[in-house]
Amino acid sequence: MAGIYLHIPFCKQACYYCDFHFSVNTSLKAELIKAMVRELELQTNYLAQEPVKTIYLGGGTPSLLSESELDALLNTIYKHYPVLPKAEITLEANPDDLTAEKLKTLALAGINRLSIGIQSFDNTILKFLNRAHTADEATRCIEGAHRAGISNLSIDIMFGLPGQSETGLRSDLDQAIQLDPKHISVYSLTIEERTVFGKWVAQGKLKVNEEPEAARQFEVVMDTLPIHNFLQYEISNYARPGYESQHNASYWQRKKYLGIGPSAHSYNGETRQFNISNNYRYVRALAGGEIPFERELLTRENKINEYLFTSLRTSAGCNLAVLKQDYQYDLATQASQTLSRIIAQNLIVLKDETLQLTRAGKLVADQVALEFFATEKSN
Ligand code: SF4
Repeated sequence: MAGIYLHIPFCKQACYYCDFHFSVNTSLKAELIKAMVRELELQTNYLAQEPVKTIYLGGGTPSLLSESELDALLNTIYKHYPVLPKAEITLEANPDDLTAEKLKTLALAGINRLSIGIQSFDNTILKFLNRAHTADEATRCIEGAHRAGISNLSIDIMFGLPGQSETGLRSDLDQAIQLDPKHISVYSLTIEERTVFGKWVAQGKLKVNEEPEAARQFEVVMDTLPIHNFLQYEISNYARPGYESQHNASYWQRKKYLGIGPSAHSYNGETRQFNISNNYRYVRALAGGEIPFERELLTRENKINEYLFTSLRTSAGCNLAVLKQDYQYDLATQASQTLSRIIAQNLIVLKDETLQLTRAGKLVADQVALEFFATEKSN
């Protein structure tokens, strides 16, 4: 089973924290969609005709696509790839785009899951982040999505924001829960250098929250959502049982995926490909029949570390038998001292040959994974 990711690199305005590849100049949109259709046609062999179980339109802001642009992309996929009849088809959307008419169009186009970037229900915070929507628009679009028959909804919420109180975060979570989504993704603000916030921090105009404050807020999230039957199946992702994102899970399960569009990545088990992050050059290359990408051949060490990094973040954990069978890496023997130390620090537990993060471990998940990373010495 495989997945297809489509990157739509346009946004109405730039959120001050965002480091994704996008442009606020949409003049190239029609040509870029044509180029993405061309890339889909050129890449038909990439997934070796494996059935496609998930399609994910991310960005950028895919809800900016017109009906005909969306149809052009999806119809090309249906024509050239074996999409399963019940495939999960997700579109990332911003609340201000989701009018009743738009929601109807999306449902008719076959979108059966929406991932909605709400971030907060506090208008002051939304303004501070330079989001293009208000809290009211967020509430109205979720109600509209239910009415349009798209009830498999995911909401994004942020924490660790400057000026955000614990009470404010609790209120955001409560409002999100009341809207009855099936899935909630909760992300901590990270300051990236190339963003407006990154510049403000460098100039001393913005102070980031202290670590303990962000950790306390993460604990609020971990305490609140499970009470309402949103289970933490990955560090940042909570779902009602049966509504885990199949697309994201396929990344963690090392399934093949094809990424289409500027900055999109593809993975086939042996290599990873990275499309160029430049809209104009992407369009120009595809007009000449070329896909502008770089390819990285994954070493055994890369594969071990990717598996460790992604699996440790999931509730299923890191299966030591997989490391042994697939990569001949016997972690329990080769990293035995590290393992004992981290277990003694109560950051992980080892049960039935599976490593799982404890609650304390979830607060430092990336550091724990780094401790186990294979180096050339472990080969
Ligand atoms: S809408 Fe999404 S992709 Fe666009 S700038 Fe904001 S966070 Fe980034």
